Formats: sequence, structure tokens, C-alpha cells
Amino acid sequence: MEPFRIKTVEPIPFLSAEERQQILDEVDHNIFRVRACDVTIDLLTDSGTTAMSSAQWSALLRGDESYAGGSSYERFEQTARELTGFPKMIPTHQGRGAERILFTEMLSPGQITASNTHFDSTRANIEMLDCRAVDLPCPEAADLIDQSPFKGNIDLDQLRELLAGPDGEKLGAVIMTVTNNAGGGQPVSLANLRSTQEVCQKYRVPLLLDASRFAENAHLIVAREPGQENRSPREVARTMFDLADGCWASLKKDGLSNTGGLIALRDTETAARCRELLIAWEGFPTYGGLTGRDLEALAQGLREVTEPAYLADRAETAQWFADALAEAGLPVMRPASCHAVYADAGRLLPHIPPTEFPGVALVCELYRAAGVRTTEFGTLTLGHDDKPAPHELVRLALPRRVYTRSHLEYVVEAVSDAVGRAEQLTGYELAGPQPPMRHFTARLSPLRKG
Ligand SMILES: *Cc1c(COP(=O)(O)O)cnc(C)c1O
Repeated sequence: MEPFRIKTVEPIPFLSAEERQQILDEVDHNIFRVRACDVTIDLLTDSGTTAMSSAQWSALLRGDESYAGGSSYERFEQTARELTGFPKMIPTHQGRGAERILFTEMLSPGQITASNTHFDSTRANIEMLDCRAVDLPCPEAADLIDQSPFKGNIDLDQLRELLAGPDGEKLGAVIMTVTNNAGGGQPVSLANLRSTQEVCQKYRVPLLLDASRFAENAHLIVAREPGQENRSPREVARTMFDLADGCWASLKKDGLSNTGGLIALRDTETAARCRELLIAWEGFPTYGGLTGRDLEALAQGLREVTEPAYLADRAETAQWFADALAEAGLPVMRPASCHAVYADAGRLLPHIPPTEFPGVALVCELYRAAGVRTTEFGTLTLGHDDKPAPHELVRLALPRRVYTRSHLEYVVEAVSDAVGRAEQLTGYELAGPQPPMRHFTARLSPLRKG
């Protein structure tokens, strides 16, 4: 059962399928343009959607809104320093603010970053600096149903090859995304992180963690990695941080808060230069684009997120949800991660080719029939230059501490119904301009059955 009880409630909207069909037509079948008040169960993202604890809500009132030197910053800084062991803490308004500052400071045009998989905003920020982001996921990651425990790992052979090859000198940083969000939220093992660190040291390339889901990764290490079973998630998280030269994080995930980001570094000079950019782009170093009360909620959230009961419930819920969806006939990625279940819409809808976005077909159907909002992670979101994505996924994200099992049972029923109609679903056609991150603005229209 959920290791919390509920103190504040929010009513859930229930619309009819006809009303939702009309809404879909009005928003050009782009799920990002549906209003939240028209969504029954919102599994669009786990980012910034966390329910805060009573301790976090009461901490808000302690927020020190002084421009400089506020005590809320001190509490945030101390908590994050004790957790990560990094001496230098730089708050930002969210993860991408941290990415822009850190990469502007660390990379020069023409350089390369290698990663287990860059998250979309990470890639965008690197490419906007005229650098190249190279993804080197481990081979098991390509097989959605392979049961390997650490499919978020980086491919060490490919990393060594890249570093020893002609482009080796261009490598500006190695980035380990923990957990690997774009790779299905799969975790990275301590063994893989250690070997990556050795390679990075040999070639003198900085190792950075994109630590947005550090606690979930730490829990999955405790649960799955031999020799780690008797350690706490907090201890394991510390070992992960100890292996890196620095990290950044979107604190909208494992910060258990609704906004926030962080850069944490060992090197004093790099931190000083990041702070100069911070002042220009985000705010003074003791608030970095956040309010004092945000910093208080984050300081408390960063303490709560490593609690074993919270993490175990989160992982077990995701596992149960994945199993129940699979039983309902939806092909899902294995093994289950923590923050979402990823469905293989390509396998569910083999009659819809990638160019006609099978993921969008499933997303729209789940919304139309049941008011469940999910998001496509296939050719619309990840394909570029007319190249389809490797898989046509739909993500059912799990906001932290928001929905109970009975809400998720409702989703399982909706999925079961949609699976029964799979053969009748049709593809979609994309109209209009295609900017970077086109999925946020895309206009789509359903194709008729041919
Ligand atoms: C969310 C996320 C980011 C970007 O953070 P924002 O807070 O959304 O700007 C970066 N990396 C990963 C792995 C993420 O999940």
C-alpha cells in the first residue's frame, strides 16, 4: 500500500468520450494542447507533478525571500551538499537552466559529448552550442523485452573506441543520465559507473551525472546489483555522486517539488564561472531563479526522496502497473523502471507504419476513450530528418505520490478496452512547420482507413 495518507484532495474531471473527441479535433490531436481540466488521469509526465508532503508545505512558510544570503539557500545548500558530497551548489529554476549554464561553461564549439542517452533538453542545449551529442546505450537497451537489470548502462566498448579514435580529442564530457529517461527510465549500475569513471580518468575527460532521478537509480541498484542489497538508497546515491566530477539535475523529479534545478561541482573555478552565467541568466547565486520557499520545499524533498519505504512503493507500483498492463494485452518495456511504464505501440499497432505515428494513435485513443493522458516517445518526439525513431513508444508516467492503485486500475481497464480496438485505430499525418522539439507544437490529423 502507499506509505502515506492523504491530507489535501483535488477533484478529478469526468468528461464524455464525445466531449473528448471534440477536444481532440480542436487541439489538432496534440495531447500537449489539451487543458489539464479536461484530463481524468494525467500520466503525461512525472516532471513537476509531485504532491508535496505536509513537511514541505509547512517549510514553505519559512521561505526567506531575501535577495542575497537568504537562510533558505543555506538550508538547501547544506542538504544538497550532505547528500551529494559536492562542495559547490548552484540552484537553477529547472534542469534545462542548469544544462545551459554548465555546457556553455564547459564546452567549446565542435566538441562532442558522449552519454548513455542524452535527454531531449540536454541534447538541444549541447547542439545549440554547435557541439555534437553522441548516444552510446548498451546493446541490451535495444531489446525492449530483454530482462537485463541495468539497461541504462553506457556501452563501454563504444566509449573506449570513441575516445581512442580520431574524434577522441574532441570529447568535452561524458554524461551519465541516471536513470536513463530517454532510454525508458532504465537504471545504470554502479559497476558501469565505476568503469566509466576509469575510462574518463584515463583520457582526462570530465564525468558528469544528469542526476534528475538519482534516488530511483539508487533504489534500483539496491534492489538489483549484487553486493548492494544491504546498503541504503542514500548511501548508494552518495557512491554514485562520488564517482563523478559534477552533476546537474532537474529537481522537478527526485527533488519531490514542483520546480527547481541544480548544478553541483567539485571544481571551484568551474563553479565560479557558472555563477557568473547564473547571475546573467537565472538570478543571484543564493536563489538562482527560485524563490526562498521553493528552496525550502527542495531541501525537505531531497531528504524525503531517499526514504526506503517511499522508493520501494514507487518501484513496486511501477512493476505492478507494468504487469497489469501487459496482462491487459499491452506490450510493455521490461524490466519495469520507477518513473513510468513504456508501451510498445509499434507492436500493438503493426498496421500503422512509423511515418504515421502509431504512438500518437494510442495516445489519442486513451484520451478519447477514457480521459487518460499519456505521451508519445516515438517518431514524432524522437525521429528527426525523416528518420523514424528506433521504437514507437508511449510513456505512461507516474507522478510522485499523486495517484493511488485504484486510479491506476482505471487506467488498466482503459488500456484493456483500447487493446480490443487496436485493429480499428488509424495513423496520423503531420501538418505545418517542424521546429526542434516539434511534438510540443505539432498539428496532426487522423488518416482514414485505407
Ligand atoms: C526533466 C529532465 C531534464 C530537464 O529538466 P527540466 O527541469 O525539465 O528543465 C534533463 N534531464 C533529464 C534526465 C530529465 O528527466
